[in-house]
Parts: sequence; structure tokens; C-alpha cells
Amino acid sequence: MSAGAGRSRAGSVGALLTRTFAALVVLIVISGAAGIAASEVQTRSVRELDEHVIPMRLANSELREVMTDAQRALRGYLLTADSRFLDGYDTAVQEFPDAAARLEGMVLTSAERVSVAIQLDQAEAWWALAAQQRLVPPRSDQAVEYAEHGKNLFDGYLMESEALDDTMAGSAEYLGARSERLRRTTQGTLITVTLLATVLAVAGGTYTRRRITRPLDRLTTVLGELTGGKLNARVPAGNGPAEVRAVSDAVNLLAREIERNTRDEQEMNRMRAAARELGIAVRTHLSVDDLLAEASAGLGRMLGAEHVVIRFAGGAGRRAARWCTRGAEGLCDRLAEADPGWLIDGAAQGTVWAVEDVRAGLEPSVPEAERRGFRDAHASGVFSIVFGNGTENLGVVTLMVAGDSPPWSRGEIRMAESIVADLGHGLHQARLYETEQELVSRLKEIDDVKTDFMSTVSHELRTPLTSIAGYVEMLRDEDPGPINTGQARMLDVIARNTARLRGLIEDMLILSRIEAGTFRASRTAVDLAELVRNVHAAIAPAAAKAGVSLTVTTEGDLRLHVDRDQIDRVLANLVSNAVKFTPSGGAVTVTARREDGEVVVVVADTGIGIPAAEQDQLFTRFFRASNASHLVVPGTGLGLAIGHAIVRNHGGTVTAVSAQDEGSTFTVRLPA
Ligand code: ADP
Repeated sequence: MSAGAGRSRAGSVGALLTRTFAALVVLIVISGAAGIAASEVQTRSVRELDEHVIPMRLANSELREVMTDAQRALRGYLLTADSRFLDGYDTAVQEFPDAAARLEGMVLTSAERVSVAIQLDQAEAWWALAAQQRLVPPRSDQAVEYAEHGKNLFDGYLMESEALDDTMAGSAEYLGARSERLRRTTQGTLITVTLLATVLAVAGGTYTRRRITRPLDRLTTVLGELTGGKLNARVPAGNGPAEVRAVSDAVNLLAREIERNTRDEQEMNRMRAAARELGIAVRTHLSVDDLLAEASAGLGRMLGAEHVVIRFAGGAGRRAARWCTRGAEGLCDRLAEADPGWLIDGAAQGTVWAVEDVRAGLEPSVPEAERRGFRDAHASGVFSIVFGNGTENLGVVTLMVAGDSPPWSRGEIRMAESIVADLGHGLHQARLYETEQELVSRLKEIDDVKTDFMSTVSHELRTPLTSIAGYVEMLRDEDPGPINTGQARMLDVIARNTARLRGLIEDMLILSRIEAGTFRASRTAVDLAELVRNVHAAIAPAAAKAGVSLTVTTEGDLRLHVDRDQIDRVLANLVSNAVKFTPSGGAVTVTARREDGEVVVVVADTGIGIPAAEQDQLFTRFFRASNASHLVVPGTGLGLAIGHAIVRNHGGTVTAVSAQDEGSTFTVRLPA
């Protein structure tokens, strides 16, 4: 393990636990050793008692018994002269050597050896005397004398034997006491060690628990906050022991990573939304200049560029558009003037030319003008995308960052590509729209000229016609002198045609006023029933002459607030048309009634009708149906157009239902 790693483990729970466990192991070893030692000593004591002390005492007592038996039998014989006592004596004589040898064989210590030797010497002395006693006659004086002497010797042996017994009893007592002492010491040691171990385990456990639990609680809280979406939650520095600190650091690292990723994602989503919006704006702009301004500014802001330059292919005939961050204006002028042909010619639309740092050198194919453009703009990162519409490459969009700005990511460049693709399409649409607008305004100019012309011509024609009509009237009134029938017929024709010409001029004037927007209604209270009756009265002679029956019906209250002359003109036109386009024997019916807050006038005829294919042009100026032209029915094609404009001016509608060769029905609805 390295020194650094060693340091990082300082204050770790592991180290603490290791120390605690080491102490516990030492205590366990101590208690084990104490136990084993005690049991060893104990075993040895028991063995000494069993194998030495007790058997030696037994052997000693056996020998004493043999000696006592011999002494008692000999005394009995000497005092009583009963030879039966001699049997006991003889037995003892035989047993003594074995008993003596047994005792001697058990001797271990030098003290025992000395004691046993003295004892056996005494015994041997007694046995030697006993052998002489046995030979003297019983109950003799000599026997008595021997008995006295033998008693002294025997007592000497007995004393020595008892002394040995006492020594062995002392040994047994010592062994017992030693064993008891050892038991107590061992017990004390074991209790102490157990107590120590318990205290150590409890203290170590509590301390460890305290050192781990709180930091773990903090860690759990932070993890909970993180999962709950609080992405800036962090575990405080130095949280707990090394292990928990390591986990805390890992959690913090993870949280930072998640926060960064989430921010990136949000940023990306924001950019995507902005790109979508910009794409839509770019596609729907109708002015090329506005579109270019919006696209360059939008791209620049979205991608954090210092300069955005949109240049056009040689033939596109348009100056480059540019956008620069504040303070950088003018720096991209030179690039705007550089010919982007080297990027556009032969390139596919959407081709991206990207350089992370142009200052680090460029491929030789990059023209000097382009390089100078980058230098002027202090550009570092640059990328250009070719755009176009259909198969035509329209130009190139170049984005530049200055200084040490980070280069664009793949995602950002892709986003720019999609916007630039929209730019090609939008530019095409905007150009089409602008061309169309130009055409429309030119057409409008022509129309205005035509309206002016019509108005001027009509005015100019009206004055001489009024004079012609006046003089014709005077001639027909024979003011200058009498005229013959031939001349009168000619004057009638002139008067009729003059009237037609005046009608036409009148219609043209009204039409030019409608188109110029100066045709206004001056409304008054009008009874439509009266107007219908007047029209009937005016047209009835012509209808009668053409062999067409004309009937008029009015129902209910038909009062309105309208321009009397204009509505009169509408009705007269509709009824005269119906009569004009109905062959002899046909019928024209006019009905006027009130219906749901409207006054409805229906003019129906059984005439030639209008071909279905032409009916949609019915209310356009100068329209004349093919069957009408074919039958050479006179007319200008202005009446219905004017009528339609008048009714619309009054907030009403005029509609027609017609079938060729069956008849037509015109319906006028005016709000009451
Ligand atoms: P004009 O009657 O002077 O030709 P209008 O504008 O009044 O001009 O009518 C336009 C054309 O509509 C007519 O030339 C005719 O072809 C057709 N038209 C109008 N009214 C009728 C009708 N009642 N029956 C058949 N054709 C009609």
C-alpha cells in the first residue's frame, strides 16, 4: 500500500475495528493461556497425588501393618508360649521384604529417601532382635528383657514411619492448597479478561456505530434529495470515517455528473426548441432581407458565434448578409466580400467545412481572401455550410468564434445544418413571393392607369355626346326647320345610339369609380315596392313590343334605407336583361317580398339561360355569355358587374340560378 493510500485510511473505521479486534484477540489468548496453564498445573497436582502421594502413604501403612502384625505375634508368643502366634510372625517375615521393597520403589525426593532409609534401618534392627527373641524360651527373664529392648526398637521404627506419613500428608495438603490457589487465580484472571473484553467490545461497537451511523444518515438524506430531483444536493466534506468519506465523494461525483448531464440535456432541448422556432421563422419569412437578418442573428445567438456571414453563389446577385456580436461589427466585412465559390462549386447541399482553430493553419486549397477574412474577424473556430434549393446551390453560411471559445460540438453543427437547410427553402419561397409581389404591384399600376384612362375617356366623351344629343333633339323637334320622314328615321337611329353610347359611358364611369374606391351610396328611405313598380312601368312597353309577358308582385312592407338611384339601376338592369334574353312568347316575373329581416327581389324568366360552364364569370366586368353574343343581343357586359358591386356595397347579395334554354332566376337580398 502506498503512503498516500495509508494516509487515506487514517481515521477509518477499519483501522479502529482492527485495533479493537487485536485487543480482543490478545485478551482471548491471555484467558486461553491462563486456562491451559491452570489446567496443566491442576492435572499435574492430581497426578502427583494419585500416582505418588497416596500410593506411598498406602505402601507405608502396609509396611507398618506387616511390622505391627510381626511385633504383636512375637510378643504374644513370648508372653504366652502359644506357638500359634508364631504363624502370624512367620507370615509377616515373608511379607516384609516385598512391602519394604514397594515402599522403597516409590521414593522420589531425597527427603523421602532419607526417611525411608532410616525407617527400614530401624525395621531391620528390630527384625534382627526379633530373630534372637524367637530363639529364647517364652516367658523367660531373657524373653522379658528382649521384649523391653524390642519395644524400644519398634517404637523407633513406628516414629519414623509416622513421620513419613506426616510428610506425605503435608505434601497432599500442599498440593490441594496449591490447586485451590490456582483455581482462584485462574477464575480471577478469566473474570477480569472477560470484563475487559466486554467493555472493549461495547465501547468499540458504540463508538464505531456513532462514527458510521450519522455520516450514513447524511449520505442517505443526500441520496434521497438527489432522487427527488434536487440535483445540487451534496454530502458535506469530511463526512465520517474514510470508508464513508470515500462513498460520499463517489456520491458527490455522481451528483455533479448527473447535474452536468441534466444541464447539458436542458441546454440541448432549449437549443432544439430554438432551432425549431428559427427553422419555422426562416421558412415562413416573406421578405428575403428579413429572412437573412433573422437567420444570421438566430444562428449566431443560438450557437454563440461572434460572426455569421451568409454569402451567395456568383450568379445569385445579392450582397452577403452578416451578423456580428456587439463590438465586433465590421470585422467580418472582408469575409463577406470573399468569393465563396471554392466552397459551393461542385459541393453537395449541406456540405460542412469545419476547422477547430484556423490559426493553427489551413489546407492549401483555402483561398487567400478567405484566410484574410478569418484574420480580420480574429476567428479561431469556423464552420461553413452550403445551402440551396432543389438542385441549385444558393450560397454558404459561415459561423466564426473568436479567441479561445471552445469549438462547436457535433450536435450543434447538426442543428445548424437543419436550420441552414430551411434557409435554402425559405429563401427560395421568399424570392418567389417578392417576385410575385413585384408583379402584383406592377399589375396594379397598369390597372390604375387603365382606370384613369377609362375615367378620362368617359369624361371626355360625355361632353361632346351631350352636345350631339342636344342637337339631335333640336333637329327632331324641327327647331331649325321641318324635316322629312326619312330624315326623322335617321335622327331616331342617331338618338337611340347616342343614348346607348351615353349608357355605356355612364356604366364605364361608375365602374372606374367602383374600382378607384370612390363609388359611395347616399342612402335615403325608399319604398322598394314603388321602385319595382317604376321599373315595370319603364320596361313594360319594350316587353310588350318583344311579345314577353311581364308581371310584378310585391308583398308586405318593403321600405329600406338605400341609395335610390343605385338600387333602381340594379333592378332596371335585371328586369331589362330578363326581357332582352327572353324570346317572344316567354314570361318574366318579378316578385318582391320581406323574408327574415331582408327584402328579397326575384327576377325570373323563361329565356335563353346561361351556359353552365360560364356562370361563374357572370358578375365579372365585360362578361357576355356565348349564347348572347351568338344571338347578337346587344349589350356591354357591365350591368351585372355594376349591380353586383352596388348590392355588395349595401351589405346584400345577388345570386343567379340558370339553365341554358330554360331560363334564369336572379335573386337580390338586401338587409332591411
Ligand atoms: P349586357 O346585358 O349589357 O350584356 P350584363 O352585365 O347585364 O350586360 O349581362 C352580362 C351577360 O350576362 C349578358 O350579356 C348575358 O350573356 C348574360 N345574362 C344576363 N342576364 C341574363 C338573363 N336574364 N338571361 C340570359 N343571359 C343573361
